[in-house]
Amino acid sequence: MYKPSRRSFIASGAAVTAFGFDLRPAQAAVRELKISRTTQTHSVCPYCAVGCSVVIHTLGDKAKNVKPAVVHIEGDPESPINRGTLCPKGASLKEFVNSPNRITKPMYRAPGSSEWKTIGWEEALDKMAALVKKTRDAGFTPKDDKGRTVNRLDNIAMIGGCTDANEVNFLLSKFRYALGILPYENQARL
Ligand code: SF4
Repeated sequence: MYKPSRRSFIASGAAVTAFGFDLRPAQAAVRELKISRTTQTHSVCPYCAVGCSVVIHTLGDKAKNVKPAVVHIEGDPESPINRGTLCPKGASLKEFVNSPNRITKPMYRAPGSSEWKTIGWEEALDKMAALVKKTRDAGFTPKDDKGRTVNRLDNIAMIGGCTDANEVNFLLSKFRYALGILPYENQARL
């Protein structure tokens, strides 16, 4: 006698038809309704080096008086990496994007201070540029101990992430080589 396992029972669809009701069309309609008026943006999950592709559904960005809202994020079925799937972390991306705790502005903690304060992008960029200049001036090595030209910088390191696109990585490499930075690590293993 056929004894279905939990897995085969669910895969067969018996779970949704067991009581005489096939809920699949209704479930598909609800999903269709949810994303029917959204704008789709393709991106990459920021969490780990697998780099799963996602489709972000945004609602309300066509009307001038409506604040855009991310209403759904799903795995990209076109991606050869994850083929539409997401792990539990990736599946929770909508909550991450919409979290009130998400930091969306530059924050600065002065030396010796325990307080973080929000600053503007202009101020943040000026601070970073000044600190990079100061650090580079202190650590730049034009020649090694044998007198060979090396033009290298050992006291600044650069890191990248899996969501950095080819174009971003191209610009980062140009920036890194221009400064002479050697230490470089990138989370992406794509
Ligand atoms: S969905 Fe999961 S496996 Fe894929 S990149 Fe995000 S965290 Fe990594």
